[in-house]
Amino acid sequence: MTMETLPSTAQSAALFARARAVTPGGVNSPVRAFRSVGGSPRFIREAHGAYLTDVDGNRLLDYIGSWGPMILGHDHPAVREAVAAALTRGTSFGAPSEGEVRLAETVTRLTGVDRVRFVNSGTEATMSALRLARGFTDRKFIVKFRGNYHGHADGLLVEAGSGLLTNAEGALGRSAPSSAGVPEDYARLTLVSEYNDPAALDALLAERGHEIAAVIFEPVVGNAGVLVPTPEFLAALHRVREHGALLIADEVMTGFRLSLRGATGLLGLTPDLTCWGKIIGGGLPVGAYGGRADVMDFVSPQGPVYQAGTLSGNPLAMAAGLATLEVLEGDPGLYTRLEAYTARLAEGLKAAAQDAGVPLSVNRVGSMLTAFFQDAPDGSVRTYTDAARSDTAAFATWFQGMLGQGIYWAPSQFESIFISAAHTDTELDATLDAARTAYAHLGG
Ligand code: PLP
Repeated sequence: MTMETLPSTAQSAALFARARAVTPGGVNSPVRAFRSVGGSPRFIREAHGAYLTDVDGNRLLDYIGSWGPMILGHDHPAVREAVAAALTRGTSFGAPSEGEVRLAETVTRLTGVDRVRFVNSGTEATMSALRLARGFTDRKFIVKFRGNYHGHADGLLVEAGSGLLTNAEGALGRSAPSSAGVPEDYARLTLVSEYNDPAALDALLAERGHEIAAVIFEPVVGNAGVLVPTPEFLAALHRVREHGALLIADEVMTGFRLSLRGATGLLGLTPDLTCWGKIIGGGLPVGAYGGRADVMDFVSPQGPVYQAGTLSGNPLAMAAGLATLEVLEGDPGLYTRLEAYTARLAEGLKAAAQDAGVPLSVNRVGSMLTAFFQDAPDGSVRTYTDAARSDTAAFATWFQGMLGQGIYWAPSQFESIFISAAHTDTELDATLDAARTAYAHLGG
């Protein structure tokens, strides 16, 4: 790559300068600022299929998919038409509407939960599910796993993953809480255990199990990079209920991404409560939590645990979510195709890295993948501590090499990428060509 071939990013840079004057760090969500990879973020003008177009007119092959929701690709006709039709009927009613019932019926039918409540983000979903678990069990403490991210509710910003692993203050490895502004008094109600360490979870439960309202976990982690649970860890999760605690699966990222029954369906886990977001809103703001009827009926107005929202069940979001789930359900081969693409991408990345002498360890499940810049055998990065051994400087250089060639990878070593139904062999070939160049650049 030479300077002559680098795309112009002048318009993005100008917008970023304006944004920084009026918004903290110039962005509305930290990872978008590119702090861990350097450089300035692209401002996006529009997106169709597998591609984004930035404000300078550069076409970018998108592996972020809005951080998960865009499993059908951007601007899918079924979603666009459903939202356009809903738009003609009004944008918010503050009263129940049929779309909420239809999406709830679809989610309960596909996932097997009894009841679901819609909110506006994944953060709201996990926050509400924890309040519900505390209300139901009349206990205070919760357990989460190091490097798992469940949104930015106070009690969950403790040893958290995603942007917290690479933020400007270098939170990597810092002990709880992971954010300023979360009082220790509050964080102490969150007990942290190591993901994929069944003995640690068993020990914690043996000591404190009687005080624990819930154990919340990512069934397949995306927010420390992709981490896959071991069978032994899954068995330990199943034992949580022996202590009277609820098991809460955070499927905000994995729900409808890894299968129509999410990661828990693939793994044979039956949580008491499940949280969703991302895909169930088809690219519009949404979240949801659901589960067993006896637990969910503790939610107001049926029960004593309060939770509400001005825009909850928003008709546009319901329409986009329903259209997305209908397309997913109507295309039984889709998850197999997504996985096949991801498997070939993994093989290609690995081969290209090997040729260039760059150590790489790939974790992947379904259409989620992280290529860690370290020499551990594939699949052996199992914990946040393992992931943190990656060479983040090498990743950043490779990331910039990819971006310079029009491939928009997740701008952090500790994130998953997301493949969409719009990614075809053409995109795969272009990605692997670019990857070879970027690895060679790095090796050389
Ligand atoms: N839970 C998980 C597993 C997530 O990946 C995220 C976001 O990435 C959240 C919760 C929070 O969702 P939101 O960003 O919609 O608040």
